[in-house]
Amino acid sequence: MSQLEIKNLHVNIADKEILKGVSLTIKQGEIHAIMGPNGTGKSTLAYTLMGHPAYEVTQGEVIFKGQNILELEPDERSRLGIFLAFQYPVAIPGVTVANFLRTALNARRRAENPEDKGIPVPEFRKLLKGHMEMLKMDPAFAGRYLNDGFSGGEKKRAEILQMATLKPEIAILDETDSGLDIDALRIVADGVNALAGPDLGVLVITHYQRLLNYIKPHVVHIMLGGRIVESGGPDLALHLEEHGYDWIREKYENGIAV
Ligand code: ADP
Ligand code: MG
Repeated sequence: MSQLEIKNLHVNIADKEILKGVSLTIKQGEIHAIMGPNGTGKSTLAYTLMGHPAYEVTQGEVIFKGQNILELEPDERSRLGIFLAFQYPVAIPGVTVANFLRTALNARRRAENPEDKGIPVPEFRKLLKGHMEMLKMDPAFAGRYLNDGFSGGEKKRAEILQMATLKPEIAILDETDSGLDIDALRIVADGVNALAGPDLGVLVITHYQRLLNYIKPHVVHIMLGGRIVESGGPDLALHLEEHGYDWIREKYENGIAV
């Protein structure tokens, strides 16, 4: 049973402290959601976990399989079994979705077994077909060039398909990006629900309470002022839906109880 353990994480952007001691453990089989008003540090947490160079970790660690993943390159994190959405946001003309996924899968397999010769093409086709059926995707999608002219929803599809193919133990999804319409939201939610199970731990970062109408997290965390100020069960999401964030802003100042 793997788990991702975020311990007392402090992160600066341009010398300003944004995350002020975030601690959180996600186990395989659990779905966690982080919610919170804009500007509280949710995306900062996502980018830090992804290894974005602009985010400077000043304290704390993130432990997975006995390693501090903050010391690893983004692709090493991926090969270890952590899926980070938006890892490959760039368009790659000439590389199809299927080719990209096969290359990514083979890299993951070689990380587990250096002798691995790669998945045979017919076996990969079968695997991909199965995933695409499960996710109700048009088979033609696999033949398109990755992210080349993709709509927001199609980028999400590629992302979820990547997750299905790589079978990560922990997936981290930041759904705060602008332009996420209701269709894209549903693609992510349906994908997470289809892939959820005892082997997958998920951290969904969102400011759309709506997303939680479609994904049922086991644990909900509220972030405010760079700290997680409340954690609870699904009822916490319902409470937020009903009452918004005002009560939480009144209860905490800069993430500290008043
Ligand atoms: P959220 O995702 O919760 O809306 P962010 O993590 O994006 O919040 O931002 C947290 C804080 O960090 C905000 O106050 C924002 O202004 C600041 N911030 C984010 N990115 C940068 C940046 N590149 N340079 C300076 N400040 C930034
Ligand atoms: Mg954000």
